[in-house]
Amino acid sequence: MRIELEISKCIGSGSCEMLAPNVFEVGNDGLAKLLDASPGSDMESEVRAAEESCPTQAIKVEH
Ligand code: SF4
Repeated sequence: MRIELEISKCIGSGSCEMLAPNVFEVGNDGLAKLLDASPGSDMESEVRAAEESCPTQAIKVEH
């Protein structure tokens, strides 16, 4: 799967990092970063949870 992070929408809530810490990290600048833009399918449920949790729909997941 491929993840796109629309960083201009990120408000640094941190829920993506909390739910999928191997894929997202909130940096010192308060914005999320992608640690892995194309994680394996074993990460799907975590990534989906992060996508759904994002309050600003900054995370898009493509298959
Ligand atoms: S859940 Fe969304 S708004 Fe919150 S840190 Fe992650 S990308 Fe940014």
